[in-house]
Amino acid sequence: MDKKVRLLDLGRLYCSQKKEIDDSLAACLASQEWILGKPVALLEEKVAAYMGSAFGVGCASGTDALVLALRALALKTKGTEYFKRTDRIITSPFTFTATGDAILRAGATPAFVDIDPATFNLDMRKVDEALDAVEGVAGIIPVHLFGQPCDMEALRATAEAGKFFIVEDTAQSMGARWKGKYAASIGNAGCLSFFPSKNLGCFGDGGMVVTNDRELAETVRMLTKHGGKDKYNVDHIGYNSRLDTIQAAVLNARLPALEGLNASRRRIAERYLRQLKEEKKIALPVSLPDACHVYNQFTVRVPGRRDEVQKKLAERGVSSAVYYPMPLHRMRVFQGQSVVHGELAEAEKACEEVLSLPMDPLLEDREIDFVCESLKEVLK
Ligand SMILES: *Cc1c(COP(=O)(O)O)cnc(C)c1O
Repeated sequence: MDKKVRLLDLGRLYCSQKKEIDDSLAACLASQEWILGKPVALLEEKVAAYMGSAFGVGCASGTDALVLALRALALKTKGTEYFKRTDRIITSPFTFTATGDAILRAGATPAFVDIDPATFNLDMRKVDEALDAVEGVAGIIPVHLFGQPCDMEALRATAEAGKFFIVEDTAQSMGARWKGKYAASIGNAGCLSFFPSKNLGCFGDGGMVVTNDRELAETVRMLTKHGGKDKYNVDHIGYNSRLDTIQAAVLNARLPALEGLNASRRRIAERYLRQLKEEKKIALPVSLPDACHVYNQFTVRVPGRRDEVQKKLAERGVSSAVYYPMPLHRMRVFQGQSVVHGELAEAEKACEEVLSLPMDPLLEDREIDFVCESLKEVLK
């Protein structure tokens, strides 16, 4: 093998699904139905059915899915287009920028709560503390980070007791389950991203909101289409945020393979875990007994020498990435625009230690072995 392992090889994935995708794209080209063609409605139906949700509404990106779900919840729970700055939405500071940004765009204020160092997800104990300490909490956005689902049972109980809504950021975890229930299908709404590197990716940007709430689904749909059922006479401040027909065509061709590819991600993770289990200088990701983890990333911790290890891996031809180098509460956009519960020390520490190794559902055994050998050498 040429001694190079990429983080993710989208070309290889496309080649393995070429026939299905090309046929689906050819049908789309022949139809010339670019805006909200049949493939979009078909995908919405299939994705909702796959996760046991009643409704799916396609949109232009995972980021838009979060904004749309929040805006629809502002309309439903407050009767206003946007939340007020005094409405706080709890989320993790250790996530992609878009999670926190969506809260600002919906008019509310992010309330950052620290993560559990073992799972990288919101620490439920600290969420409970924050609910006593932070005023005006309207909802919670759990982020199922790297493919690991949050404890949705605990979160649902908390949300029901306090009448908070839950919007699941499922951008990295389509197919993940908590006690058999699919991430995205458990809260008031779940947000999916079809960005190319996600577990189900298209050929550009795409996203979807899934929900069991008919009224919420209808509001989200209106917001994707300029804010009304009739775009020449609208009710709300809307967006132009549709899922392109051509992206839906790609996704329809790919959806049937998702479960198999997620199982393959888990097998790859098991091989990594077996080979690296003696390595005392790093900490390995955990998979909780109640969780079905779908490993969008295989992320280890390298205390003290992460950057050096990343550089040396690169010299040996092994790509790796730092998701994420900075917690959200340190970013300029959130200064004075967010509240923080406690120290967020675990999120800060994670940003200094994490390193994501190549994770691609078609990664070959010899590639995994090469990554592990290289990592062991580098750590010596
Ligand atoms: C990718 C991602 C998003 C945003 O999705 P886009 O489709 O890129 O807009 C939001 N949250 C998390 C955790 C993500 O990984």
